[in-house]
Amino acid sequence: NRTLSELDPEVAAAVDAELARQRDTLEMIASENFAPQAVLEAQGTVLTNKYAEGYPGRRYYGGCEHVDVVEQLAIDRAKELFGAEHVNVQPHSGAQANTAVYFALLKPGDTILGLDLAHGGHLTHGMRINYSGKILDAVAYHVREDDGTVDYDEVAALAKEHRPKMIVAGWSAYPRQLDFERFRQIADEVGALLMVDMAHFAGLVAAGLHPNPVPFADVVTTTTHKTLGGPRGGMILSKAELGKKINSAVFPGMQGGPLEHVIAAKAVSFKVAASEEFAERQRRTLAGARILAERLTRPDTTEAGVKVLSGGTDVHLVLVDLVNSPINGQEAEDLLDSVGITVNRNAVPNDPRPPMVTSGLRIGTPALATRGFDEDDFTEVADIIAETLKPEPDIAALRGRVDALTAKRPLYPNL
Ligand code: PLP
Repeated sequence: NRTLSELDPEVAAAVDAELARQRDTLEMIASENFAPQAVLEAQGTVLTNKYAEGYPGRRYYGGCEHVDVVEQLAIDRAKELFGAEHVNVQPHSGAQANTAVYFALLKPGDTILGLDLAHGGHLTHGMRINYSGKILDAVAYHVREDDGTVDYDEVAALAKEHRPKMIVAGWSAYPRQLDFERFRQIADEVGALLMVDMAHFAGLVAAGLHPNPVPFADVVTTTTHKTLGGPRGGMILSKAELGKKINSAVFPGMQGGPLEHVIAAKAVSFKVAASEEFAERQRRTLAGARILAERLTRPDTTEAGVKVLSGGTDVHLVLVDLVNSPINGQEAEDLLDSVGITVNRNAVPNDPRPPMVTSGLRIGTPALATRGFDEDDFTEVADIIAETLKPEPDIAALRGRVDALTAKRPLYPNL
């Protein structure tokens, strides 16, 4: 019954140091968030001890009556939140959710059409060395060179040429909303299934601030830890008639025992996501991203070679374009790190610099919105970033401005 710090001081010290890092820096990686304390608590419960292969009411182990309650709550809340007919909450991650869908609905060698990785798609949308690209015949669509938005004419043309079994809509780095109706239309024209991967924008959908793909897609996958703000994990939503195939692809197809402690935390996060407080947080998330886009496109910043892809944003992130800046993506990431702002470098479409260096940054606002940042705070953050990316920044002064913000908006005060 020893506590973590008594039993394993080395691990405890690293956890404490990570909490301090999260508290003392501005977390702006677009795929990250801060899970509520109740979500952290649910993940640390005795549910971690339980084997529960199968689904609620149909398990291969005894003693599942309480985890059944938990998993059914997660399923019912997710159905309600997104208006889905069928939900599977067992995928351990977003990548596993996507792979399970391919496994359920496609055969090796079938063609999928997904957004190019270098244009904002995800590894699991057909990248060559990912399982999706190895086992399936992956064809990529792109964003347009002029305005950085998905080229739907190209999607339609590629669909006609390659007759994919499935079209994948969704992204990891794209600053605009997708036109799900258009994707549905293109899929119908060639008899393809439509999968939407809403991992990044699921929280915005839950809050009613982004179109919901569920009515348009055959299957929708998501992670639960990005804008949705829950535990690290995945989920699959689908039409009722695909439910059986999807369930058996997840278990026993790909996974063994579900992580019921994580599923409990998913249930808690779906309860939070249905609240007005959550919607208000998502409104601040969007406002923060818009403020970033505006302030990073002011003349003094653009003179330093900094631009924003597509000229703005309708979601929780901006993509900074440094093609004309003397600073590359790696240097920009390091500079921001030195003032206490965590972001990730990101290739821009047709990036002239190598993939480990890049000419872009992906900057997101969900974690800071969760921390309570309002429009004034985001204005200050945007100005700190703009100053850091200009020639000869005063790193110590900028770090001081970051410290003032972290002190103003404390994180996890009760931990
Ligand atoms: N899908 C999209 C669009 C993503 O951006 C990501 C993660 O970055 C994933 C799937 C994979 O999620 P995970 O990291 O949980 O496997």
